[in-house]
Amino acid sequence: MSTTVPRVPTQDPSTHRNRAPSQGPESFAALNLSPQTLAGVRSLRWEAPTPVQLRAIPLLLAGRDVAVQAQTGSGKTAAYGIPVVERVDPGGDPAQALVLVPTRELALQVGEHLRALARGRPVRVACLYGGGSVGAQLGALRRRPQVVVATPGRLLDFLGRGAVHLGSVRMAVLDEADRMLEVGFLPDVERILGATPKGRQTALFSATLPPAVTGLVRRTLQDPVWVRMEGPAPTVDGVLQFYVEVAEQDKVRALRALLRSEPVRSALIFRRTQRAAQRLADVLAREQPGVAALHGGMRQGARFAALRAFASGRTPVLVVTNVASRGLDLPRVSHVVNFDMPEDVETYVHRVGRTARAGATGTAITLVGQYDMEMFDRLQRVLGPRWQRHPLNLYAGGG
Ligand code: AMP
Repeated sequence: MSTTVPRVPTQDPSTHRNRAPSQGPESFAALNLSPQTLAGVRSLRWEAPTPVQLRAIPLLLAGRDVAVQAQTGSGKTAAYGIPVVERVDPGGDPAQALVLVPTRELALQVGEHLRALARGRPVRVACLYGGGSVGAQLGALRRRPQVVVATPGRLLDFLGRGAVHLGSVRMAVLDEADRMLEVGFLPDVERILGATPKGRQTALFSATLPPAVTGLVRRTLQDPVWVRMEGPAPTVDGVLQFYVEVAEQDKVRALRALLRSEPVRSALIFRRTQRAAQRLADVLAREQPGVAALHGGMRQGARFAALRAFASGRTPVLVVTNVASRGLDLPRVSHVVNFDMPEDVETYVHRVGRTARAGATGTAITLVGQYDMEMFDRLQRVLGPRWQRHPLNLYAGGG
């Protein structure tokens, strides 16, 4: 068992007991937090810790590495945010704590969260993300922030320029690790962790635990404690899975029929390549309003515009590639259509995960063409027999 994890300075618990928002074994006061952190929590008007906070905060304060399966909305940000603000030394080196996140939106959100929790302490938080002003972010780095929240690509840019050093990182957090890997950040994440000290403490948070994430945990965490929270994971559970057998050349016709017959509130149509996504969006948009494309071949501004129109409901149908969500925060949808078969099972689960929501069911429809049989067999073998043939039949009665 490894013992290189640094110890966390302990606080005197007698100093804050009476000032907590609530008492009892499940209160913030029972977590042994400093008065400043309790004041930060109080300013957010939180009554009591959430389940993931109750589990993760003591482990992180005890210096352990943790791998946590928790959904957005579970309070996961503060589950690591509170230990981060407790652990950083306000008078110490810059970049003592590093939080890696998949998107700019999450970087900004986490930054705000951490600043609120650190209120009352001279702790500075810098947010580094693609699409933001390089000059402003360099300025933030010059102010020697103890906490750095970053998307991997932009952080590597700054590392390459020597604008940031990670030799003082005592605590690294990988937030929404599954999404980070889903959009291809794995090599970047590993390079970044490689630039931090081996003895650092590491926490990983992820809504799902596909093999790529558990592999990352094995390679980068030391003797981690696994914390699995109850709650709906965005997997294929809760999703109605249909397939439509259709000749490749009839897929567009099948899709049109599906869009007419299904109660679509919002739909993501997945295609394999950027060109194919654009072409299909153009074809559909000629016949019906409210269709747009979203893929990595579009400029950032156009991607954000497409995303905003989709999120607002103006274009409820979005034709996308797998990496469409890179740097973007896609909302949940009523329908996922696999126009092109996903390349592997994991990609299928991630695509379809866009539709399952707590309490509600989503619909996933996979168009199975003549070249897709092998992959479809594999999906059924791995994910089980919960597939239904969709009632749509293009080939009956001349339809
Ligand atoms: P997260 O899962 O970190 O995205 O947090 C979801 C929401 O829960 C955020 O709006 C937080 O401000 C809020 N939140 C986090 N912890 C608590 C808590 N202990 N009590 C009430 N709300 C919380």
